[in-house]
Amino acid sequence: MKNISENINDVINNIEIAANKVGRDKDEITLIAVSKTKPIEYIEEALKCNIINMGENKVQEIRQKYEALGNDAVWHMIGHLQTNKVKYIIDKVSLIHSVDSLKLAEKINSEASKHDITMDILIQLNVANEETKFGLMTEELIDFIINVSRLSNVRIKGLMTIAPYVVNSEENRYIFRQIRQLAVDIKRKNIDNVSMDILSMGMTNDYMVAIEEGSTMVRVGTGIFGKRDYNKR
Ligand SMILES: *Cc1c(COP(=O)(O)O)cnc(C)c1O
Repeated sequence: MKNISENINDVINNIEIAANKVGRDKDEITLIAVSKTKPIEYIEEALKCNIINMGENKVQEIRQKYEALGNDAVWHMIGHLQTNKVKYIIDKVSLIHSVDSLKLAEKINSEASKHDITMDILIQLNVANEETKFGLMTEELIDFIINVSRLSNVRIKGLMTIAPYVVNSEENRYIFRQIRQLAVDIKRKNIDNVSMDILSMGMTNDYMVAIEEGSTMVRVGTGIFGKRDYNKR
């Protein structure tokens, strides 16, 4: 096993360095350990280091891991979510990062209301990523927010984006800056039930740049748990 605790220390240090660079408080930034494809023992190791926020992208995997660890971890759904699977995770996750259609938001709303809870969500934006077809286009954002703000059992907490893989993370800076600016613009509109407190952006390859541009949640997988092996599963 890779030395997870050492990796976590490195990431935490880097978060602080990036925050300091732009005069931000490191405590404004939440580290989400992306544990997808990784076994329970890895997550337990992260929990020992007081990293409790785990990011997963598959409903089935969240169900299995939740069964093992329950609320010892705080679960984040960061992957594409099909409407027919919302019911399996609605009572297990604390934040859904990947909402990108009204149909999905409505389904989350109806499932949340069955459990008498309000689900916190982020809107996934597709700013410049040709590799993924998921995420709203920026032109669609305002109408979408106004529609979702009418749903009583979901609460928009901010924006999320997956930037493309680039060798030089500076190439993604403009994307993070654009998301931040969108959040500022939306906040100014003071829409009921909508806050822009969370900007979920930055992954192993580019989280320092994302923090410099205002990220409040970084999703780090490889940098904590090592490379993922999709063949082994
Ligand atoms: C896998 C994944 C991550 C983590 O990627 P790394 O490059 O391993 O840090 C972050 N966000 C999302 C949405 C992911 O699917």
